[in-house]
Amino acid sequence: MQSTFKSSAKSLKTGLVSAAAMCALMAGIQTAPAADAVPQNDNLNATLWTQTSVEFKATALTAYSLATIMLDRALADKNWTAATEQTGNYQNLPPAVILDVDETVLDNSGYQGWMVKNDKSFHPKTWAKFVNTISSKPIPGSLEFTKYADSKGVKVFYVSNRNTKLEEATRKNLEAYGYPMGGNVDTVLLKRERKEWGSKKGNRREHVAKDYRILLLLGDNFGDFVDNYKGTLTERNNTLVSHADKWGKSWIAVANPTYGSWESAPYGFNYKLSGDEKRKMKLDSVDAWSGE
Ligand SMILES: [Mg+2]
Repeated sequence: MQSTFKSSAKSLKTGLVSAAAMCALMAGIQTAPAADAVPQNDNLNATLWTQTSVEFKATALTAYSLATIMLDRALADKNWTAATEQTGNYQNLPPAVILDVDETVLDNSGYQGWMVKNDKSFHPKTWAKFVNTISSKPIPGSLEFTKYADSKGVKVFYVSNRNTKLEEATRKNLEAYGYPMGGNVDTVLLKRERKEWGSKKGNRREHVAKDYRILLLLGDNFGDFVDNYKGTLTERNNTLVSHADKWGKSWIAVANPTYGSWESAPYGFNYKLSGDEKRKMKLDSVDAWSGE
């Protein structure tokens, strides 16, 4: 009897809600969003993919497995170099590899997750707070690869656009997992560590190339490989094609769908635009079927 009453009461309540919703629709009135609306953020799927999918892990493991194969090949070939900045007689220099840090070696998806859940944008202050938690985990395959390179006598350099105030936390995070740290050589080369070292990484690669034969470059961003990464979509593609002989050989990319120069290129790297303006320009860049 009681359950029948509950059932009838529930059905009555549902009926009332449905009737109210129908009346609102018929009157053209939009119902207010529920108080516990799910946060909407453009980066949800990308963050979810990098953080939870086995497909991302498999992709990263594939990149680092390829890097290991290419490392052996590069070591055996004295004329091999990954750096366009490498000139002169480099054949007998000691070998090195250059890796970017964020989203190449260290997984900062926790920061992305915080932005997604709280609808925040990147800001240097919140980024610094996150980095100082020293909580970034290894990108799958990166630790094994760098340890392998180190075991072969290859110096592992980290060329990152983290700023110098974050150097201590960056080193601690890498050391916590046992990444090779270069002994008495400074192998963590950050932006503005020297005044001429800006966002473009070419002069830091040039710095390494003076003393080492650079076997491989690894990164998640076009700027980890070339300095002219800030062009239009067509210009960026032309630059990619002009280096077709390097991809998957001496240049190895790790997937990062959460941020990077690929995301800024559609709106011309104009960070002053509003979120909607950027989204509109990104939508305009999407190739779409005209519809049925
Ligand atoms: Mg990166």
